[in-house]
Amino acid sequence: MQIFKLLPRTNCKECGSPSCLAFAMKVAAGKADYRSCPYITEESLKSLNEMMEPPVKKVVINRGEREIILGDEKVLFRHDETFYNPTALGVEIPPMLDEEHLEKMVKLIESFTINRAGQNLHLDLVATSESCEESSTVAKYFSNIHEVSTFPLLLRFTKPETLKMFSEMVNDQNIVLFPDFKSDLNEDILNLLSERGCPVALPCRKLKDVEISAGLFEKYKIKMGIIALTSGNSAERLDILTSMRKGAITDGNRNLGYPALIWSNNEETETGEIATAIMKYGSVCIFRSTDSCKWLPYLTLRQNIFTDPRRPIQVEAKVYEFGNVNSSSPVLITTNFSLTYFTVAQEIEASRIPAYLLIVDTEGTSVLTAWSSDRFNAKKILDSLERENIKNLITHNRLIIPGYVSPLKGDLEEISSWDILVGPREAVDLPKFLRNMEKTGKSMYVSS
Ligand code: SF4
Repeated sequence: MQIFKLLPRTNCKECGSPSCLAFAMKVAAGKADYRSCPYITEESLKSLNEMMEPPVKKVVINRGEREIILGDEKVLFRHDETFYNPTALGVEIPPMLDEEHLEKMVKLIESFTINRAGQNLHLDLVATSESCEESSTVAKYFSNIHEVSTFPLLLRFTKPETLKMFSEMVNDQNIVLFPDFKSDLNEDILNLLSERGCPVALPCRKLKDVEISAGLFEKYKIKMGIIALTSGNSAERLDILTSMRKGAITDGNRNLGYPALIWSNNEETETGEIATAIMKYGSVCIFRSTDSCKWLPYLTLRQNIFTDPRRPIQVEAKVYEFGNVNSSSPVLITTNFSLTYFTVAQEIEASRIPAYLLIVDTEGTSVLTAWSSDRFNAKKILDSLERENIKNLITHNRLIIPGYVSPLKGDLEEISSWDILVGPREAVDLPKFLRNMEKTGKSMYVSS
């Protein structure tokens, strides 16, 4: 009704809705953009902009083809809807590396990628902190990093002079500037930050500092404000992060609705610190370890937390071929949950036995979930076999089903002429199963 009251209420239907009330309901449900009504007055538009602003502000950092979105979150718990914008991950480049080592380090960070469940996972940022060298030397080093790297940058300054010098050297709006001075921020610096138009991170040690920083963002018209939590231990930061998110979403306190930056100070404890922040409301995390093996868990954890629980990651339901298949190759069957597919596929490849893998559309659910919700049943499997013309691919009559759904053997054999073998419960046992099958012509897992 609040949205409706701000519309012209002429029911002209130009927005495609039968009435202004219907349009307001669509806007409230997130199915229409209020800006698609051409007759909203400027005053109403301003009120609607404020009303529709996300509880956690959105900060966008673009550099070349790369875009990072921070904040813009709407829920406290992932299962309430979804978390929208994955935590941006960055590595802190050590201070004052020589040119060769700097280039090597930046290359390692920017080229680091792994493919998991069909997605390419990578890091997002390059960060660095001011060392105790002269301001002019540090500013030059920061500008070198800016030149060498194509990633968005996050630069932490500990002296106002360095920030001023760097600002004269590099004029790029796609750098996050983080003044972490020992002294208070003065008007000069705040005006400079505002004029630059960059995202700005302000250091906060307690929850009340967050509201003070929010006041500064507002007063100096810094549109892309970030709250930097760099001191305290992991539990203290978690406390602030949770209070910020709760305050913004549950209590509607706009002064707490900012993306948060976590910058680890301690390489020994950073794995726990960063993992905690990825799970609970960290928008950007910077870590010190330059050992790429330690980056992997952050990437996989982030992928799990920021997967939309309403839309499981799925692969196409069809028949996949592994190796040089022929008419006597085994046919395995599983569901289209992405993680299930990739786990099974990896083990078939490891067995080095050419095989077909038939993927049944179970709406992206795993084997047991699909079976218990009747999305992986005998009829569905038979329909998939027919759709993919499996009988034209092979001359035998055998199918292998996952060990966890052995009751399907009876169901399938009752309504079809297929000979069903019950495979292992865990994908990791597939290579042994397939090799044994090839050797003996029949599997040790078959229950007759
Ligand atoms: Fe109402 Fe605007 Fe839609 Fe016309 S275009 S029906 S005024 S919401």
